[in-house]
Amino acid sequence: MHTLRRVLLAQLPIPPLGPGRIRGNVPLAGAYLKLFARQRGLENFYDIDVVPAHRASTLGDRALAVHLAARRPWLVGFTCYLWNIERTLWVARELKRLSPATRIVVGGPEITGDNAWVLDEPAIDFAVIGEGEQTFAALLLALLEDETPPAPIPGLYVSTRKELPAFRTPLPDLNMLGSPYLAGILDAAEEQMLLLETTRGCVFKCKFCYYPKSYDKQYYLAPEAIRASLSHARDKDVREVFLLDPTLNQRKDFAEFLGLLAEGNPGQRFHYFGELRGEGITEKTAALLRQANFTEVEVGLQSIDPEAMLRMDRKNNLRAIQRGVRAMMAEGIRVRVDMIVGLPGDTVESVRRGLHWLRDEGLGDDLQAFNLAVLPGTAFRHEASALGLKFQPRPPYYVLETPNLRREDLFALMREAQELFEIEFDAQSPPVLEFAPDPDVEFVWRLDLDRPSPAPPPERRSFAFTLWATADNFRPHRETLRSGVRALLADNPFSTLQVILEPRDPDPEVLPAQLDEAYLAAVLAACQESPSYLDRYYALQPGGLLGAKRLVVLLPLRLREHLPPAWLDALAEVATLAWSGTGTPEIEESLAGHEFICSRDGQRVLSPAT
Ligand code: SF4
Repeated sequence: MHTLRRVLLAQLPIPPLGPGRIRGNVPLAGAYLKLFARQRGLENFYDIDVVPAHRASTLGDRALAVHLAARRPWLVGFTCYLWNIERTLWVARELKRLSPATRIVVGGPEITGDNAWVLDEPAIDFAVIGEGEQTFAALLLALLEDETPPAPIPGLYVSTRKELPAFRTPLPDLNMLGSPYLAGILDAAEEQMLLLETTRGCVFKCKFCYYPKSYDKQYYLAPEAIRASLSHARDKDVREVFLLDPTLNQRKDFAEFLGLLAEGNPGQRFHYFGELRGEGITEKTAALLRQANFTEVEVGLQSIDPEAMLRMDRKNNLRAIQRGVRAMMAEGIRVRVDMIVGLPGDTVESVRRGLHWLRDEGLGDDLQAFNLAVLPGTAFRHEASALGLKFQPRPPYYVLETPNLRREDLFALMREAQELFEIEFDAQSPPVLEFAPDPDVEFVWRLDLDRPSPAPPPERRSFAFTLWATADNFRPHRETLRSGVRALLADNPFSTLQVILEPRDPDPEVLPAQLDEAYLAAVLAACQESPSYLDRYYALQPGGLLGAKRLVVLLPLRLREHLPPAWLDALAEVATLAWSGTGTPEIEESLAGHEFICSRDGQRVLSPAT
């Protein structure tokens, strides 16, 4: 009997803003690849394993590479998105160093013919462009005989050949795929959520979007397959069925489809989420959405400006959107309306007009404003220089300047949107001071700067990691602290790093001189020497404390009234203030919105001060 070649499929998560369990990183793409390979009989030759979400989401950069290498894989496949591509490539390099014979294949929306910095990565052997299942199966089949596929495979980029492949025609029938949940590859109970793709392909061709590039038309899942998935969702007691379809109401049989979703959810055991266009939603369809138990939907508006609409090739009928959104809101459905800031053709005035229109029409209770990302593979990327778009060279590829909008304008418009709707798009989460034990990783380095101890080994650190420093007096330890931060980030450059500074038995008389804003700014500067995805993501957003690295100053609440308010305000410019213990109701009420109260021993956040 021959030994099966081990294939591992991994999907790294969206970087979290802080420690705490990462949810939602369901490796659906990898699961589909495994399922399709199984149907092609390839499991007779390959042992294909999808790396469980909790492992892929918990392990730090180096821990993940070591974990993958320890399993001695013959091939590793990574699903690549905007938010994980740089980290994935780093892990791939590290994996190649540890296991040079392992072949590496990447796929996902970040893998496009014009994304040279990814395709040129030496650690990559193969890259799948477009829909993945057939290409991946064809690759595995070809590798049974040769080191590299002897003949070109549509959709497959082979690094040694450096030629862009022919277009991969999508699967002729989405029903050929089956469900990775029903096949037992994914467990919906794990996240109490089932991802369901009932359509592939989009009738629209928005120029900022890559999705339609992979599909020549729309492909639909048959009603019986949808029924089977919904029945499975009920059996697994999920709380949510998350529909991945690009535009739910692009289908001609939308009303029947909603009837099917309602029928599959008797007693409204779970709720649905999906994206749709506001146009075309009538009172009747809104009622059907409610009956099925849609509690939340996302509606793309992007811009109300005719010139911007023309440039992005997306025409919005504002009156119809208004009717549709109102109808859904009247049914009690939460409608998240998306706006893009930085579209070609838009100006400060037109974006402002769009925001005010949403507010005045009462449609923006759940506004989501995004900066334009000039994504690889999109028409906007292709036309970027003709359109005069300057953008970040690495994800999230945010536009930094257009002929009408300067960087300051983009920033100011995001601030304006938050102020207009009195919301914070990404509010600060409470600091995490409690760490559940995990046999594979350590979440925290407790560093007593007066009696330093080494950090946990790099290959045992978690993705979201905490350096918890204590000292009688921080002042003499600034460089030690900065070196500690640098060393952690050199080992695991993509960490979400929380740095807690906890003065031991602080004296309110001397503390302000020992730990001031300049001190913290110096530590923060060490944190930010190599920005990663989240740092760039928040670079154009107000709320300067957001990013992959965060400072937290932890102090006893009883001291707060003895500390100078100006000093606290200055600290809050660069760090989150966390208070341990309890105080009088007056003190608790006097806390600012960005301060948090934490219990001292259980390290549980009792309440964010609001
Ligand atoms: S943004 Fe949505 S509607 Fe537009 S092309 Fe992409 S998937 Fe289709």
